Amino acid sequence: MSAQQTLQDLGAGLLNGSVKVVDLAAPLGPDTPLLKLPPEIGVNTPEIEIHNISNYDDNGPFWSWNWLKLGEHSGTHFDAPRHWASGKDYKDGTTDTIPVQNLVGPLCVIDCSKEVAEDPDFLLTEAGVKAWEAEHGEIKEGSWVVMRSDWYKRNNDKDAFLNVDENGPHSPGPDADCIRYLLSKGIMGWGNEGIGTDAGSAGGMEPPFPAHYLLHEANRYGLASLCNLDQVPATGAIIVVPPLKIVNGTGSPTRVMALVPA
Ligand code: MN
Repeated sequence: MSAQQTLQDLGAGLLNGSVKVVDLAAPLGPDTPLLKLPPEIGVNTPEIEIHNISNYDDNGPFWSWNWLKLGEHSGTHFDAPRHWASGKDYKDGTTDTIPVQNLVGPLCVIDCSKEVAEDPDFLLTEAGVKAWEAEHGEIKEGSWVVMRSDWYKRNNDKDAFLNVDENGPHSPGPDADCIRYLLSKGIMGWGNEGIGTDAGSAGGMEPPFPAHYLLHEANRYGLASLCNLDQVPATGAIIVVPPLKIVNGTGSPTRVMALVPA
């Protein structure tokens, strides 16, 4: 099939509803859960603020607009290679230099929701990915791979979403060998429903925060705080990942979407 025909069919499918667009982003505002680093580790991203400039009033009679105070890594967001020390030297590793061709692609959804319901510290392993491949087919080069955990259902409760106790945060994610295996398959990016691309326990892994360390070391990308993966099939969807084109940006809030068969 020609590319022209493929796009014509996609356009028709979007219009006739046989292709559905699923919103993979959480609402972005003052109630959005944000990462809370212990003070001995580092400085935190600021709380999100939305300030009104005018609202059809004396400050602007015909228009309404706001300005934002917003960290790059807030809410549903994209991690660029420049975010991590391991990826800091890539010339095409910031939000304004990443080739846009890399930001739309086939999506694999690995459903770990049952395991996570029983264990919030659940880690996806290389064996877990291979078991998924045995059922759904090999992960192809250039694919985006995301871990469905249904963690996003905690999004309206910051404490439940961060899930921190005296031993630290408890939330699901990948272990280091899982990410190494996915990189060996040539994935374009990895996504998680938690506050970051890594599990809550990832600070104690080797290397620490392996999704961040290994993905960005390989000039690959991360997605955090994804939503609605329970509305996306294991294979066959297309993910659209549009970070803002922030100059020298290390990441960006982004309205991630998936195109799925209705
Ligand atoms: Mn981030």
